[in-house]
Amino acid sequence: MKFENIQKLKDLINNSNNVVIIPHTNPDGDALGSSLALKGIFNKLNKNSFVISPNKAPDFYNWIPYFNEIKYFEDKPDECSEIIKECDLIFTLDFNDLSRIGELSTSVNLSKSKIIMIDHHQNPKNYAELTFSFPEIGSTCELLYEIIVSLDLDKLINNNISTCIYLGMLTDTGSFQYSSVSSRTHFIVSKLFEKNINHNEIYNKVYNDSSKSRLDVLGLALNSLTHLKEFNTVYMFLKRDDLENIGYQKGDTEGIVNYGLSLKGVVFCAIFIEDVNSKNSVKISFRSIGDFACNKFAEINFNGGGHSNAAGGKFEGTSNEAIKKFIKLLPNFKNNLK
Ligand code: 5GP
Ligand code: MN
Repeated sequence: MKFENIQKLKDLINNSNNVVIIPHTNPDGDALGSSLALKGIFNKLNKNSFVISPNKAPDFYNWIPYFNEIKYFEDKPDECSEIIKECDLIFTLDFNDLSRIGELSTSVNLSKSKIIMIDHHQNPKNYAELTFSFPEIGSTCELLYEIIVSLDLDKLINNNISTCIYLGMLTDTGSFQYSSVSSRTHFIVSKLFEKNINHNEIYNKVYNDSSKSRLDVLGLALNSLTHLKEFNTVYMFLKRDDLENIGYQKGDTEGIVNYGLSLKGVVFCAIFIEDVNSKNSVKISFRSIGDFACNKFAEINFNGGGHSNAAGGKFEGTSNEAIKKFIKLLPNFKNNLK
């Protein structure tokens, strides 16, 4: 790929010694993979780099190379703010709006260093000195690989960095099933295979290493599944009390929404998850197959956004109230839900 900004990025990197790398809140495989891959590159360049995550990453990602070096803003806000204040360059990875990093955005806004955005979501905000925004690319990790090649740094990509990149490509493409997957995606995967990544082990660590509570939460969600045949839509919900009773752990709900799409004929699916830490808040995930744009639906109705086939949003109130609103909205979209 050709990037207009690549020379500017090269210069900024050459002139920096202390780099901060920030994934979005509740970092997923792509946010963590891209952030840690980039850290691996800076290690090789003998530059100091700090991955600062707004909050804790799920424990089941603790095997990712460099994972133990992540700093968490929610744990050490003062230390993280100080690092950000002193750094020369900030990378924001896998998001395009500073509201996606919560309180950490205050430190970023106060910083005088230049910001580089590397992301694949739609509608990027204008906060960065250099914006690498490519919504047609399936994962930030795939985009990061392209940027590393353009910087002529691909010779630095070792087994650990390849593992990080593969993780994000795997998780953000639903294991290479989504329409964003291209021949280029597979070409890049073949390059990562040349670094002897253990793709089988990576898959098993992500998808076949569930805790009992994760399967219990899945059972709870599947029990709640409701099929709205008229709209080719399915929804599920998880209530705060049920999650607490079952011994819910952070990360247990990730990916459950996708089960809704496995029902024959379904093109749109939502899961409503009551926030266990805040009494009146619901996190919603949307998924679709085909043309129905979840991100627009989420943006207009649930204060959210994301990609066309995978988006998220928020609701103030109970899951029952959120579902009521959701069901009421569907007739407006009936023609698009086919
Ligand atoms: P998930 O359902 O897995 O949490 O998120 C699916 C996609 O939607 C991700 O790409 C994520 O970045 C985006 N997303 C999730 N929640 C929100 C939100 O509240 N606001 C915005 N703008 N995007 C979201
Ligand atoms: Mn992503």
